[in-house]
Amino acid sequence: MFKSMFNQRPQADDETLAIDGLPLPCHLVRSRRKSLAVHVRHDRIEVRAPLTIARRDILQFLSRHQAWVCRKHKEKVQRAAEHLSLVDGSEILYKARILTIRLHVAPRSSVEVTPTHLHISGPDLSPEKVAAIFKGWLQAQAKAWLPARTHALAQHLGVGHKLKEVVFRKTRSKWGHCTAQGRIQYNWLIMLAPDGVIDYMICHEVCHLLHMNHSPAYWQSVSRVCPDYKRYVGWLKRQEHRLWF
Ligand SMILES: [Zn+2]
Repeated sequence: MFKSMFNQRPQADDETLAIDGLPLPCHLVRSRRKSLAVHVRHDRIEVRAPLTIARRDILQFLSRHQAWVCRKHKEKVQRAAEHLSLVDGSEILYKARILTIRLHVAPRSSVEVTPTHLHISGPDLSPEKVAAIFKGWLQAQAKAWLPARTHALAQHLGVGHKLKEVVFRKTRSKWGHCTAQGRIQYNWLIMLAPDGVIDYMICHEVCHLLHMNHSPAYWQSVSRVCPDYKRYVGWLKRQEHRLWF
């Protein structure tokens, strides 16, 4: 599950600790928690501390974890820079190719992919409208592609009767989901990924119709259908932040 960084109510949020060697001043958030933890984002570093712990101990904790914080921060800055934004001239990772986005005013909405560009056209190019045009295009692809592949694989594995429906949702936490009732849900953003990754995701969810868990037996079924699955899991881990808009 994707957990929000700010789902715990801070008691106070106004104290910052300037630490030598850290890229940003560190926000101190005290609450009724039991241990110290540091959370790093591209624009904010936050140390969460129990109510009574001494400042000296917090500073010690931070200096002990300084190298890790710096490494994490660098990674987050890079990831933030790579986030997909649908503006003219920006880059998009589309099926493992980097394309340049072009926006065009046109009477009708459309999306077109060439070897070097992704063209988004429409009568109104406000950020919301551009996002809506692109979303519609991805959803149409998801609907044309994913249910048929999902049903075919379920038949092949002898669990076609267990698959009740295929639905689409953009959730913040998941690419796919399979319920015990046989409902498979996909995040349509996956259509931006390479075909191998999409097939892996289908395989991942359909194999849950065989095993409703991530047991060794489950992964054995996955690897029979998709022997390269570890490559695709790795690709998603490294690149998924570039697919969200
Ligand atoms: Zn799973």
